[in-house]
Amino acid sequence: MASIFGHAVVGLTITKLLSNKNSKLLLLFAIASTILPDVDVLAFNFGIPYEHPFGHRGFTHSFFFAILWATLLMFIFGKQIKKIWWSVIFLSTISHGVLDAMASRGRGVGFFCSI
Ligand SMILES: [Zn+2]
Repeated sequence: MASIFGHAVVGLTITKLLSNKNSKLLLLFAIASTILPDVDVLAFNFGIPYEHPFGHRGFTHSFFFAILWATLLMFIFGKQIKKIWWSVIFLSTISHGVLDAMASRGRGVGFFCSI
């Protein structure tokens, strides 16, 4: 399982590769987006089981969530570089699930999970 730092390094790398603008805000959101999908571990506190669509490695690890999150941030913060914002945030968010899928522990990742 990738550590929080491993996920963050991927966000940093994606931002540096795709954005020639030196946007610290984009970098901050890219790194946060690589970590955000694991917010679903809070579901355990509400009795939501691992296998549930809102359980661990479910909806927040899906392509659908990455598209929604990237689109939301693009419209709020993207301004003139919308395509770059969307691409960086989408790839950063979905990279989390890709790294999780390479882990030997866990029950898989719900890439195609939707609500
Ligand atoms: Zn995860």
